[in-house]
Amino acid sequence: MLIHGLQKMTLLDFPEHIACTVFLGGCDFRCPYCHNFELVDGSAPPLMNDEKFFKFLEKRHGLLDGVAITGGEPLLRTDIADFIKKIRTMGFKVKLDTNGYHPERLQELCQEGLLDYVAMDIKNSIEKYGLTAGVESIDTGRILKSISIIMTSDIPYEFRTTVVHELHSDEDFIAIGEMIKGASHYYLQQYTERDTVPDKKLTAPSGEEMERYLGIVKEFVPNAMLRGL
Ligand code: SF4
Repeated sequence: MLIHGLQKMTLLDFPEHIACTVFLGGCDFRCPYCHNFELVDGSAPPLMNDEKFFKFLEKRHGLLDGVAITGGEPLLRTDIADFIKKIRTMGFKVKLDTNGYHPERLQELCQEGLLDYVAMDIKNSIEKYGLTAGVESIDTGRILKSISIIMTSDIPYEFRTTVVHELHSDEDFIAIGEMIKGASHYYLQQYTERDTVPDKKLTAPSGEEMERYLGIVKEFVPNAMLRGL
């Protein structure tokens, strides 16, 4: 397993854990606002192999208690289960970030009890999912299946949406609210403008827009919150 990035310690990525964050390259989405596009398009060279990562982790006993695995899209890796098993055998808990496009692999990991926390992106309403994920012929059934797997598992989870002024509207948040009605945790994250994203014309929503969207989704997910504002 090749690893494309490593943040050696974070208090933010894995709720209630002191973790490191592992970045895996490759993604099957092409979100126009992606902040990690160098991981998606393959331009970032690998940083290390898993052997070197496990050596790093070995030295972090007592300092870290978790590993957050992100991307790119980690579930594209056919050997992700073995990678997670090894981390857990070493005594660390595992959080997985996913775009929700690989429900079968997600289900396997959930059933095998390999995950301690799952965070899934909800890109937009079903109608605008393909546009927002940058994939024209997207199979949104796979997204809905992942939502159902996560919500019916007993694993702590969150859904989150990166909100972009040009891509989201009140109607979209009504539709998203219906998709994840009753979810335990849902976060709206304000897009931040960066030079490295594929579509540099995209802009951040105002604080007022974010508050309005929060009000809409709270009808469906009372515990919904803004993050990073
Ligand atoms: S799913 Fe995530 S990593 Fe993949 S393109 Fe979208 S924002 Fe980037």
